[in-house]
Amino acid sequence: MTEPVAPIPFSEVLVDPPAAGPAGLLAELAERRIPVATGPRERAEHARDWWPPAIPEAAAGRVARWPGVVARPRTSDEVAAVLVACRRHHVPVTPQGGRSGVVDGATPPTGGLALDLTALDHVLEVDPVSQLVRVEAGVFGPDLERALEPHGLTAGHFPQSFEISTVGGWVSCRGAGQYSTRYGKVEERVRGLRVALLDGRLVELGARGPHPATGPDLIGLFVGAEGTLGVITEVTLSLSRRARHDAFAARLFATFDEGLEACRRIIQRGARPAVLRLYDESESRRTFGLEGCALVVLDEGDEGLVEATLEVVAEECAGSEPLDEAVVATWLERRNDVSALAPLWSAGVVVDTIETVAPWGALGSLARDVRAALEAVPGMIVASVHQSHAYEDGACLYFTFAGRPGGDPRALHRAAWDAALDTLVSAGAALSHHHGVGRQRATHLARSMGPSYELLRGLKALFDPEGLLNPGVLGLGEDDR
Ligand SMILES: Cc1cc2nc3c(=O)[nH]c(=O)nc-3n(C[C@H](O)[C@H](O)[C@H](O)COP(=O)(O)OP(=O)(O)OC[C@H]3O[C@@H](n4cnc5c(N)ncnc54)[C@H](O)[C@@H]3O)c2cc1C
Repeated sequence: MTEPVAPIPFSEVLVDPPAAGPAGLLAELAERRIPVATGPRERAEHARDWWPPAIPEAAAGRVARWPGVVARPRTSDEVAAVLVACRRHHVPVTPQGGRSGVVDGATPPTGGLALDLTALDHVLEVDPVSQLVRVEAGVFGPDLERALEPHGLTAGHFPQSFEISTVGGWVSCRGAGQYSTRYGKVEERVRGLRVALLDGRLVELGARGPHPATGPDLIGLFVGAEGTLGVITEVTLSLSRRARHDAFAARLFATFDEGLEACRRIIQRGARPAVLRLYDESESRRTFGLEGCALVVLDEGDEGLVEATLEVVAEECAGSEPLDEAVVATWLERRNDVSALAPLWSAGVVVDTIETVAPWGALGSLARDVRAALEAVPGMIVASVHQSHAYEDGACLYFTFAGRPGGDPRALHRAAWDAALDTLVSAGAALSHHHGVGRQRATHLARSMGPSYELLRGLKALFDPEGLLNPGVLGLGEDDR
């Protein structure tokens, strides 16, 4: 089984660990034989996810909020039992998969229960005829793909965090893999869910054939709910055949707008290259040493389909400069390398990423406006963008910023986020495409959703009237930060 990898190790000395608890909850979990951890190191580890501002805290051995206990249930029934116990003792519960979330969404409030789901680690059933898999929520990416490989199948979901994230986390955040233009976002793959509710019920949703017309989509309530409405314990995903053939292309555009136009034409002609990523001038220089805007194209699958796709790409990019395929090799080599992140934060540089999605007609101006808003923040060194996931009606823009604060790093971080989120709200763009809301974006969710946010509040009141499930995330429930 894959183990979660923490962003950077805690320093040897953990500062101020309080006592575990509360005692009544610990006694009930012991009585039900649910595995728990109460030591400072385990509680400290489960106090954080990959939210970048938490990195220097860890290096200093500081824990902002200590969970009272870490529970590690092994079955759906045990998950349900933990929820019932937490409700009885009025203890907040934070579901945790790989804790690779980057928006401060998998971190419990002080004294809360960290619900570690990584012991739900079984791939339960593979149906090679219908190309379906039923899998427990705590299964990590490599373990899922290893189980599918002998059947010649893949889930096609390869986020940069593939090795450190779980199926339950992917679904809870509506994640997107790097090959999503061909395989789709994970939410497009979900055919069924098993969900534990706060009152102890286990509900089975879907899994009776694709796209049924049997009332509203109840699966959709829990996809993207980030642990605020229930705990996903099993997921049924649709699968694809493993690729037998792949092909690459790379082009250089004079401007980001020209590159976006080419991407739009490619997708709207019906081509679906697995990777179709366009980098602005700053990222093209930084990543590939190129002056201009680099487009990286990779497709895989049936040879005829792949070659036809690459032909469409060549036709629609006719006005741009062809680049050596080595550019794609460079992208493949570097795509999962985040080794610079922790040293930069530890050296006092504030670095983070912000993704959004918007219609094609709005993308060019949105890219300029968000970049300009980030650049205007005092202390900002650089803001850049690339287009990373494309659809017939729009695409995802992925911004990266780095700044050197004069004072508090968190103040610069918050100012940068506020500048970007304000711009997204004003433009009517989505606050996130695949990282989710967590607490980082919760400040702007009600403004972004408008009156429809009340529907979300209504669902919260229905599933979690006491506000115990992941409080603060999506701006729902009382939080202590
Ligand atoms: C280096 C790096 C690269 C990344 N690249 C990508 C990328 O390419 N694409 C992408 O989409 N994301 C990416 N992410 C973000 C992150 O990996 C995803 O959000 C991922 O889906 C989270 O999965 P996880 O198992 O780690 O969930 P966690 O971080 O543990 O949890 C995330 C949220 O989901 C909730 N949750 C987790 N499991 C369950 C469950 N079973 N039931 C209910 N709620 C649950 C948690 O409470 C929390 O709110 C990246 C992160 C890092 C650190």
